[in-house]
Amino acid sequence: MKRIHFHIQGVVQGVGFRPFVYRLAAELGLAGWVMNAPDGVTIEIEGQEGACEKFLTRLKEENPPYSRIDDLQANVMAFEDSRTFVIKESEGGNDKTTLVMPDIATCPECLADIFDPDNRRYLYPFTNCTHCGPRYSIIEAIPYDRANTSMKHFHMCPRCQSEYDDPLDRRFHAQPNACPQCGPQLELWDNSGEVTCQKHEAMRQAVADINQGKVVAVKGLGGFHLMVDATNDEAVKRLRARKHREAKPLAIMFPSLAILEAFCETSAVSKGLLFSGEAPIVLLKNRRRSAADTALSEDIAPGNPYLGAMLPYTPLHHILLRELNKPVIATSGNVTDEPICIDQDEALERLKGIADLFLVHNRGIVRQVDDSVVTIIHDQPMLLRRARGYAPLPVQVKVDVSRTLAVGGHLKNTVALGNKHNVFISQHIGDLENALAFEAFEKTTKSLASLYEIPLNKMAADLHPDYFSTKYAANSRKPLKRVQHHHAHVVSCMAEHDVDEKVLGVAWDGTGYGPDKTIWGGEFLIADQKGYQRAGFLKTFRLPGGDMAVKEPRRSAIGLLYELYGGEVEKFKDLPSFSSFAPKDLAVILQMLAKNINAPVTSSAGRLFDAVASLAGLPQIISFEGQAAMALEFALPKVKGDDAYPVSLKKDEKAKAFIIDWTRMIEEVIADARKKTTCGTIALKFHNALVEAIILAAKEVGLKKVVLSGGCFQNRYLLERAITRLKEEGYVPFWHSQVPPNDGGIALGQLVSAVYNA
Ligand code: ZN
Ligand code: ZN
Ligand code: FE
Repeated sequence: MKRIHFHIQGVVQGVGFRPFVYRLAAELGLAGWVMNAPDGVTIEIEGQEGACEKFLTRLKEENPPYSRIDDLQANVMAFEDSRTFVIKESEGGNDKTTLVMPDIATCPECLADIFDPDNRRYLYPFTNCTHCGPRYSIIEAIPYDRANTSMKHFHMCPRCQSEYDDPLDRRFHAQPNACPQCGPQLELWDNSGEVTCQKHEAMRQAVADINQGKVVAVKGLGGFHLMVDATNDEAVKRLRARKHREAKPLAIMFPSLAILEAFCETSAVSKGLLFSGEAPIVLLKNRRRSAADTALSEDIAPGNPYLGAMLPYTPLHHILLRELNKPVIATSGNVTDEPICIDQDEALERLKGIADLFLVHNRGIVRQVDDSVVTIIHDQPMLLRRARGYAPLPVQVKVDVSRTLAVGGHLKNTVALGNKHNVFISQHIGDLENALAFEAFEKTTKSLASLYEIPLNKMAADLHPDYFSTKYAANSRKPLKRVQHHHAHVVSCMAEHDVDEKVLGVAWDGTGYGPDKTIWGGEFLIADQKGYQRAGFLKTFRLPGGDMAVKEPRRSAIGLLYELYGGEVEKFKDLPSFSSFAPKDLAVILQMLAKNINAPVTSSAGRLFDAVASLAGLPQIISFEGQAAMALEFALPKVKGDDAYPVSLKKDEKAKAFIIDWTRMIEEVIADARKKTTCGTIALKFHNALVEAIILAAKEVGLKKVVLSGGCFQNRYLLERAITRLKEEGYVPFWHSQVPPNDGGIALGQLVSAVYNA
């Protein structure tokens, strides 16, 4: 006979872990107890030695679907001769370091409940259990008890209460437990806020409205979606026009895997993601066979070979989609560039001109949580937007990051809070470009810090003095560490992979503030967590009009050619970059360059992409950052090959660095453009040349480990080829998986770098 004490840390609260332990102990005839502890779960078992061993094995192997054991300590105790196994009340009650769970997609059992006509939750959109349902989007404070969630206004009926109290029930301590008798309900509003119908009738009417081509704002889990019939071209166009979203791809929710697979190519990895508890949007190859194949609106992702696809992840979405039985656009409920709406009265106000109807409910959303977006790189998931399902689970790092808050960058902002070895990265907040986004930033930052009640004594921010996030951190009057943008990118990727030796960091993106006050973005850094040396960079050029160049790739093209040809640049007037300008405007641009007025110097890889896209005749004016680079990626031919434009590496004594010179590459791009070579060929030789530039840099630097980070590495072909080529040459490449390569990942890098510099 034996008595053993276990202490377990990890994802073990709010996921049905205690009932699982209870059932396991009962099955094995063990006595003892299980209890939530401030930092995990504590268990004591007592019984036959063999049964105790089986308990430990099965504990590790059969733990509930969403739980995760990070650390397990076992100690043999004095035998007490206990007779029963019980679930004990939590100790202390102030479980501040316990992990707050993300929202989890509907589990198969709950799904069966809502589609079983004999079940009391038949077609009830707020069904959940300890394995699924809302968490982070409804929690107001820790510990995660109903009284600390937006479910506190609903009193459980006797049947729900008995489920909640029964350790053998799937809904034991399921905090948002509810049923049609006692829980939240649906309403359908017209766009003046009048209730037109309620409960299931509201759902049925919303389905009818979507079928008629209307735009319906649907209050979901972490915010509103705007939904329209994805097969109705006019409806999709109407939504784009009203939302002022010209070209950016729209996400699609499919009723089932079978219907999804009719439109998208899937793999074991992508199916695993679609059906996971995180249930993100997954970027999948569009299966479309020909231009005539127009089952889905052309306007969903114009010119884009991928579709952002997801499956329903709450009962509300499951019921809605089952009744529709066709794919719908499910895009964030906002006006472009604003944060997603979470409150119905606010939604009515802000989405008045966009949505015809509002399908709402009375379960409050405490914080915005957008859909997460994942792409697949060499058969492994890489997050592009980290929000629902992932936030706020921590990324674990080797160093103690306690009491530090990193405020992130400017675009795709997230913030990161450190406690011990956990980095709690906030959900995607968005671009900090307007008052509503600033508000969302402040709210998220404050709520993350107050949720964990972690007193802060250090802040980390970008080097850029004008970022809203930097100013916010500077105003906090806490000691502030400013971290260079591209260094933060590299450290974030190192932190994900526990790399703690010097690496070659290849950080390529659109824009980042350099300490020399130029715009960096094509960087080769010899870096560790503490610091970096700018070993090399892409040859620089000027951006006539500064920020205007982000919206107009043709400006990058002209700036680039000016770098090579100076005043003789007009000999390229036949190229589309020039011919798209009115002569008057072109004269202004050339003046800016000649006189060096409002024409900042940049080494940006993103702008180099823009310039080549422009020279190749792709869109000269774009509506979102990265659109031109995406167009170049999507122009790549089916059969790839190894052809590459020439690039060379030159030492620059003045800069004490090497420069990747693209002069000959651009000469050949121009020659190809004039020969009317296809965009596909130009795109391929350009992408391949950039990968060879990375190889040149790796050979020059000579470090074995190469880290690839920055928004340019959202480009799947560029990243996959860089990985393959680096491996071929004997290097060890690292790229992102848990946090995005774009600016959504830099808060993590800022935090870790700031701690190393303490
Ligand atoms: Zn469930
Ligand atoms: Zn009930
Ligand atoms: Fe960046």
